[in-house]
Amino acid sequence: MIDLKAIKARCEAATEGPWENFQSCLNAISVYFGNPPREICSYVTDAVSDKFPVRVRRNMRFIAHARQDLPDCIEEIERLRERFQWIADQPCEKLAANGETTCNGTGDCITEWCYPCYARKALETK
Ligand SMILES: [Zn+2]
Repeated sequence: MIDLKAIKARCEAATEGPWENFQSCLNAISVYFGNPPREICSYVTDAVSDKFPVRVRRNMRFIAHARQDLPDCIEEIERLRERFQWIADQPCEKLAANGETTCNGTGDCITEWCYPCYARKALETK
C-alpha cells in the first residue's frame, strides 16, 4: 500500500525545486538548485575525466527530475482519486453502464458493468 501522505511530507521537507544536474568539474557530476547554484548531491570520482559512466549520468538526471516528478505524480493520483470518489459516491443505478441493472449495490456485482462499484473497488487499494 502506498503512503501518499508520507511521500508528500518528504517532498515538502526537501529543498525546493527545480533541481538541475550538470558536471561541475572534471571529477564530479552534481545536482544543484537555485541561483547561485547550491549543491544537493554529487558523484565524485578519483579519476579526472570528462566522461562519466552512462548509469551515473542517468542516476543524477533521475535525482534532479524526481524533485518535480514526484509532486506531479502525487497531484495526478489525488486528482484521479477525487474523480473515482465522485463516481463511487453515485448510486449504482445512476451510473450503471448501458442501463444495466444487475448491480446489487453491495460492491459484489459484476463490477465492469457498474461504474460506482468499480470505482469503490479501485479506491479500496489506497
Ligand atoms: Zn454497483
